[in-house]
Amino acid sequence: MEINKIKGVGEKTEKALSSINIYALNDLFNYFPRDYEFRGESKRVAEMINGEMASFIGEVYAFHPYKKYSKFKGYGKIVFKSEDEYITGVWFNQPYIYKSFKVGEKVFLYGKVEIYNSHVEMKEIQHSKLDDNTLRKIYPIYPLNKNLTQSTLRKLILEGLKYKHEEIIEFLPNEILKKYNLMDLMNAIDNIHFPKDKDSLNFAKERIKFNELLILNLAVLMAKEEFSRDELGTTVLISKELVNLKNSLPFSLTNAQSKVTREILTDMKSSTPMNRLVQGDVGSGKTMVAIIAMFNVVKNGYQATMMAPTEILAMQHYESITKTLNGFDINVQIITGSTTKKQKKIILDAIKNGEIDILIGTHALIEDNVEFKNLALVITDEQHRFGVRQRAKLVNKGKNPHVLVMTATPIPRTLAIFMYGDMDISIIDELPPGRQEIETYHIDSSKKERAFSFIKKQINSGRQCYIVCPLVEESEKLSLKSVEEMITELENNYFKGYSIGLLHGKMKSKEKDLVMEGFKSGSIQLLVSTTVIEVGVNVPNASVMYIENAERFGLSQLHQLRGRVGRGEYKSYCILSSDSKTKESRERMKIMTSTTDGFIIAEKDMQLRGFGEFFGLRQHGIFQFKVANLFKDIELLKQTREIAKDIINSCKLELEEYKELGLEVRLKYFEEIDKGSFN
Ligand code: ADP
Ligand code: MG
Repeated sequence: MEINKIKGVGEKTEKALSSINIYALNDLFNYFPRDYEFRGESKRVAEMINGEMASFIGEVYAFHPYKKYSKFKGYGKIVFKSEDEYITGVWFNQPYIYKSFKVGEKVFLYGKVEIYNSHVEMKEIQHSKLDDNTLRKIYPIYPLNKNLTQSTLRKLILEGLKYKHEEIIEFLPNEILKKYNLMDLMNAIDNIHFPKDKDSLNFAKERIKFNELLILNLAVLMAKEEFSRDELGTTVLISKELVNLKNSLPFSLTNAQSKVTREILTDMKSSTPMNRLVQGDVGSGKTMVAIIAMFNVVKNGYQATMMAPTEILAMQHYESITKTLNGFDINVQIITGSTTKKQKKIILDAIKNGEIDILIGTHALIEDNVEFKNLALVITDEQHRFGVRQRAKLVNKGKNPHVLVMTATPIPRTLAIFMYGDMDISIIDELPPGRQEIETYHIDSSKKERAFSFIKKQINSGRQCYIVCPLVEESEKLSLKSVEEMITELENNYFKGYSIGLLHGKMKSKEKDLVMEGFKSGSIQLLVSTTVIEVGVNVPNASVMYIENAERFGLSQLHQLRGRVGRGEYKSYCILSSDSKTKESRERMKIMTSTTDGFIIAEKDMQLRGFGEFFGLRQHGIFQFKVANLFKDIELLKQTREIAKDIINSCKLELEEYKELGLEVRLKYFEEIDKGSFN
């Protein structure tokens, strides 16, 4: 039913409602309160206690004239009556208060009680008319914008709920409602807006949460079916030569690396394709684990590939892989967006006929013309995430290859299913030995010169440093230093005579490479950069990360940036410069200066920003539940997942009883199901 059919909705209200995306009655029903006002029992006047906050229900009885004590000051009194009792409401400096009441009208008052010998007064009053005859204890508080008031929306929803019998269709089958003791949908909608009591409210919330999570779980499973793989893959045995590789490494693996490596090798022995997510903080040595897995695959006679999100990263992987595998007769190649046509043709031929064993690359890897001879292992390094689609495209270049995804973002198991489907998870929960804790400081701009002279000292002793600024150009018209302005200032001022490099997103990738080369080789001492530097860059000689306007970065981003230093033997520092005084940014600075544990930081970040936004999924609204909370409702998430599995596995959606549920899922998530992915 359309919204303008409801009593009280004229053109103006209709427009106001559309500003909060309410167009139909059902939208109105699903516009849930963000909170509730618990007004408690209304009291008899005789029972009221001096000084307490109390509720009173009665009718407007009489007005006292407004009393002025000065030009602007004064008070008004109105007497209210309930049966044979009276209470006097007092309002200060509000001569217009009389307009809010009419004699004889039924009202609700909530305020502070003052008891005198002759009468009882109430001050600091919140009042409302009782136009519906039900006396409520719990009132909904809706999220609003300036076009609407609470009382308007409350009235509209009450009015709308008169049509609930025609409008609300139960979509859960009876057997589920019974088995999980759920409130029926109509009651739930009713009670989430205007709860009878606290128990009914909780019951209603449980039902809505159940809806949200069951539907999401069903949608995830339905989307997964779109990309489901055949069962059998390639059996990859554990190669005898692995020992030689391990012996050739300049260090021994950490226990965590060994454990995860074993898990991977064991997976690949099975003909069921591996589907594993490796989580490990920045610098925990994920690349080495990937190299070992690829080595083993190659020694079994198959090909492996690894995709990185940026050219700089892909290049870096290529370099460390060729270095590590040098002397083992393994042909490693790389393709990126800047590989020349000629070079690319040679590589494509060689990968197709099997001369190349390991192919590293960026998105260029998923182009159609890249064909493998016998691809058995696909690795994605997700400093930034690839979409399911991109991953799937690479995976489809092999015949059910084993799949490994590496990420520095810790995701609780129960939540990983949304991001990565049903993957097994390995965690590298240990850093290589000898790493020194990065000292982190928060400064304001008054201490900048001191920070810069500290940086100079570090450079003079042979180290290199990063300065990161949030923007490329002044175009945002914020009082932020653009990189270019900053670099001129640095060159002419603080760092005169030092060699400074500039790196930002608008440069061509050739130019970027050149600068990165300069920094890696040490000819550039100070690298001024935007966040392009954020992803995985490895220059062990760098010892200071200075971040300008640090409040502009999220926690995880700050952690990634900080992870660019402290990668070698040198004591390293991170300086966060921020003048922001907001609670949020102070909180972030506090977390950054108190821990370097990426898992703790990511968890805080997820809590501060919410799951959806943390993963950059905000625009989809997928993880923006109205009632459920992915952190707090883990148990319900698991339970509904099991229910969803059962529904899908037993093909219940084809049953008449489940028809409405299937429709509901498709309605809500048709896009995600269709493209087979949630990210
Ligand atoms: P990330 O997990 O962030 O991808 P990398 O794989 O880039 O980390 O490793 C970071 C650095 O640690 C590299 O320079 C690598 O050579 C080094 N490294 C990896 N494993 C070990 C180890 N077991 N002992 C010492 N250094 C290691
Ligand atoms: Mg890495």
